[in-house]
Formats: sequence, structure tokens, C-alpha cells
Amino acid sequence: MTVPEADWAEALRLLASYDEVALACHVGPDGDALGSMLALGLALRAQGRTVRASWGSEPFEVPAAYASLPGLELLVPADQIPAAPGLLVTFDTGSTDRLGSLADRVAAAQDVLVIDHHVTNTRFGTVNLIDADAAATAVVVVELLDRMGLEVTAEVAAPVYTGLVTDTGSFKYASTTPEVHELAARLLETGIRHDVISREIWDTAPFAYVQLLGTVCSRAVLEPADVGGLGLVWTRVDKDDLDRSGLALSDVEGVIDVLRTSREAEVAVVLKTDPADGLLKVSTRSKGAVDVGAVCVALGGGGHRFAAGFTSYDDVETTLDRLRAALATAPHLPA
Ligand code: AMP
Ligand code: MN
Ligand code: MN
Repeated sequence: MTVPEADWAEALRLLASYDEVALACHVGPDGDALGSMLALGLALRAQGRTVRASWGSEPFEVPAAYASLPGLELLVPADQIPAAPGLLVTFDTGSTDRLGSLADRVAAAQDVLVIDHHVTNTRFGTVNLIDADAAATAVVVVELLDRMGLEVTAEVAAPVYTGLVTDTGSFKYASTTPEVHELAARLLETGIRHDVISREIWDTAPFAYVQLLGTVCSRAVLEPADVGGLGLVWTRVDKDDLDRSGLALSDVEGVIDVLRTSREAEVAVVLKTDPADGLLKVSTRSKGAVDVGAVCVALGGGGHRFAAGFTSYDDVETTLDRLRAALATAPHLPA
């Protein structure tokens, strides 16, 4: 699903028309949300534009894994994003609710450019650059920079690479195409420290996280009869767990990557209580047989076929019951 030429042309026209640009990515930013936003932000700033970038959730703190990225000086707290921006550009955000406190800027902005790769994207922009086949939003950003004639310098390449490695699980997921490796090669040729970037993302955590991993994995439950007999494995991360370990919600994103290794379960689920609002942030992953994206959309969330999530206003048990029911009739994907 490539982006129509007319949309690229419109995007270039929009980006040429504004000296000041507001950038926003989805709440609780991951490497792709933050990386694709910083990459375009840095390239626009190098052109002399005024760039403000943010996200609409608390805490307004860059997750430790991304704290060494170039361009963090472009970030401002959400309330410093103009109430009615001329041009608002959104990244990795499938629907306006995923902008949190910045959602109101969509209606207030003169123009909105949506840059994304979620198949569930609601196309809320005046112009939409949505490529559901792209491995990451960062891939779409590079194509945009190329079309704008802007150089992908080492400074720009580092956040792009961050988006690419996060969303491909270090080039492991099915989304890893020859083009992904070609882009990675091009980024490495700029001289970025890909080893340091990857170590920060995948191989560095506070000792308290290692201990928390033990706690939440030892309480994991395997339900072989669920998902129509394909198996479900799930666990919780409670507010208490975070309080005790001094960790933020963004620090425990990797729990699901350990849980989903369980051979006996097609689907893995982590229910995390967000200390900011007390709501359950539910992460789901499938091994490829079941479309968890469709399941999460039905439960009010979104995502991709094999990695998706939703926010639940119910308690753990009720949420799990709704999820089990949806998973029992989930669309099966071709092998
Ligand atoms: P996560 O489990 O948080 O790593 O998210 C996996 C995928 O699901 C990502 O593509 C997210 O953007 C998407 N996602 C997670 N939570 C939500 C939500 N509440 N609404 C829409 N999409 C979500
Ligand atoms: Mn994301
Ligand atoms: Mn993404």
C-alpha cells in the first residue's frame, strides 16, 4: 500500500508553506514515534524553520532508552505547543485520541500532515502520508526527506535508525524487507553508532527492572485452551510493582518480549496499570496465526496484525474476560 503521488505532492506543498511547524507523536512514545518525529524535526530545523515537538501524555520525560538521541532540544512540554498551530505534523499516530492532550490541536490547526504506517489509521489529516506496508513511520519520513531534497545526515539518521530497529524488533519481524536492510545500510554509512543505539534500546536496564521481570514473569498465567486452543499467556504489571522498583511505564515495555517467547501460547498479553491515570494499558502480541490488531480495534485500541494494544477502563479480570472472548473469535491469518 504505497502513498499516492498526489499526497506526496500535497505534503511537500504544506511543508514549504510554513516557517513554524508543530510536531506531535503518540502518547507514551516508543522509538518509532519519537525517532520519526525528531528526524523530520532536525531536518526542518537545519532548513532554518522553527520546530516544536511534543507528545500529550505524562510524564513528559524522554524514556531512558532514547535519552541520547540528537534533537531532544526540539522537545517542549505539550502545553507549549501553540493552541492553534499553522501546520501540525503527527507521527506514528493512528487516530486523534492517541495524541492525548494534544488531540485538540488537530481541529485547531490550519493544516495537519499525518505521517504513519498503521493499517488502522483514521486519516485525520488534511494530507495523509500513510504506508501500511512500511516497517516503521521512520521509513516514510526518509522517503519524505528524499522527496524534499533534504540530506539524511548522521544526526537525522540516528533517530531514523531508532525507529527502524524498534519497530522491526532488531530486524527480526516479518516487516523486515530487503528495502529495510538497504535503508539500514544507508543509515550506517552516515557513521551513526548503531551498536550504542541498539545497546541502549535492547540491552540496558536498571537492576530494578531485572528484578521486576522476575516478579511479573513468575506470576504469568498460561491458558492453553484460550485463543481457540492456540494458547494465551498473560501477566500484570501493577502500580505497586512500579512504585517499589522506581520504574516508569516506559521502562517495562520489554516485559511482553520475554512473555511472548512462551512456545505454548499463540498470544501474549501484558496488562499494565498506568500510574498517571490508573487505567490499564494492554499490550498484545501474536506469533502470526491470529490478528491481534483486529481484536484491539474491537476493544477500542489499535495497532498492527501481530502487535497491538488498547486502554481498558475495567479491572484486570473484566478486561481479560473481554479479551478472551474477542480472541476466541479473532480472525486467523494465512500461514
Ligand atoms: P505496545 O503494546 O504499547 O508496544 O503497542 C503495540 C502497537 O499497538 C503499537 O503499534 C501501538 O501504537 C498500538 N497501540 C497500543 N496501544 C494502543 C491504543 N490504546 N490505541 C491504539 N493503538 C495502540
Ligand atoms: Mn509506535
Ligand atoms: Mn511505528
